[in-house]
Amino acid sequence: MTEPIREDLAAIPRYVPGKALPEALKLSSNEVPYGPLPGVAEAIADAAAHVHRYPDMGVVRLRDALAARLGVDPERLATGTGSVALIGHLLQAIASPGSEVVYSWRSFEAYPIAATVAGLKSVQVPNTADHRHDVDAMIAAVGPATRAVIVCSPNNPTGPAVTAEELDRVFDAVPESVLVVVDEAYREFVNDPALPDAVERYGDRPNAVVFRTFSKAWGMAGLRVGYMLARPDVADAVRRCVIPFAVNGPAQAAALAALGAEDEMRRRVALVTSERKRVVMAARDILPDVPQTQANFFWLPLGERAVEFAAHCERSGILVRPFAGDGVRVTIGLPEENDAVLEALRSFAA
Ligand SMILES: *Cc1c(COP(=O)(O)O)cnc(C)c1O
Repeated sequence: MTEPIREDLAAIPRYVPGKALPEALKLSSNEVPYGPLPGVAEAIADAAAHVHRYPDMGVVRLRDALAARLGVDPERLATGTGSVALIGHLLQAIASPGSEVVYSWRSFEAYPIAATVAGLKSVQVPNTADHRHDVDAMIAAVGPATRAVIVCSPNNPTGPAVTAEELDRVFDAVPESVLVVVDEAYREFVNDPALPDAVERYGDRPNAVVFRTFSKAWGMAGLRVGYMLARPDVADAVRRCVIPFAVNGPAQAAALAALGAEDEMRRRVALVTSERKRVVMAARDILPDVPQTQANFFWLPLGERAVEFAAHCERSGILVRPFAGDGVRVTIGLPEENDAVLEALRSFAA
C-alpha cells in the first residue's frame, strides 16, 4: 500500500450498498415502501429556506423531543448522520491500542468496517445453526481487552431478535467496564411482546448503549438521522467525536415532523409485519430453514447458491441482497412485490 495510508485499511471489507437499478423492485436495503411520512416533505421544504445557515449544532429540539418520548434526560442522547455513523463514533470513543469489540457474525456489515477504522480488533462470534446470536459464546469471548459487546436485535441480515433472558445474561455476565451496545435499528418492527425493548429494560444500566434510527420504520433513510442513548458521560464522549453540524437542518426538521406522525408510522409497520408473517410462511414451504424474523426483512439461508439466487431475482427485475456463500436478505415490500419474490424463489427451487 502507498504511504502515508494506514496499512490496516486495505483489509477493511467494503460496505456493499443494496443495488439500485431504475425500474427494478428494490428489496435490497430494508427501506419501507410507502414514501416519507406525512408532513416530512413539507418540513424539509420549509427548512430549505434556511440552508444558507448552519444547522443547530446541539440538535436541541430533536434531542428534547426524543428524550421526552423515551423518558430520559437529553444529556443521555447523541445524534448523528445515521446510526451507522454514531456506531463508528462510539467505537472511536472507546478504542485504545489492543482493545477489542465482540459481536455476532453474520451480523451488520458496518461493524467490522467501523471497528477497524476506529482501531479496534473485531472478535466475531458465529451465530447458532438457526441464525441467532450465540449469547453464551459471545459472553465467553469477552476478555480483558474487550471494550464493548454489540448485540444486533433484530439481527441484520438474519432477522431474529434476542430474548430478554438472553440479553439479561449478557448484562449480568460482563463487567460494568464493558459496554453492552444494543443496535435496535428495527425495534419498531418487533411485535412479539415478550421481546425486550432495550431502552425500557436496560436503559438505566451504566454500561447500556442503545442505537435507534430514523432510516427504517420512520422512512427517512435518505436523510441520515440516527440516535443513541447511553449514560451521560458516554453520550458526551460520543458527541465529542461527532463531526460538527453533522445532522443538517432539513434532516432535523424532518425527524421532528416524523415523530409527529407516529400513528401513521405504526399503521405502516403493521402492514409490514402482517406481510412478513404471510411471506415467511410461504417461503418456508419452499425453503424450510428460513429463520423467524422480527425485522422488515427475512433471510434465505441458501449457502453456496446465494449469489445465484440474487442473479435469478435480478433477471425478474427484483433486487435482493446476497451474502456470498451464506444467504440472501430480502426486504418485505408491498404485497405484489413480495409475491414476485416468492415466485422467483419457487422457480429457483424447482
Ligand atoms: C440500517 C441499519 C442501521 C441504521 O443505519 P442508518 O445509518 O441509521 O441509516 C443500523 N444498524 C443496523 C443493524 C441496520 O441494519
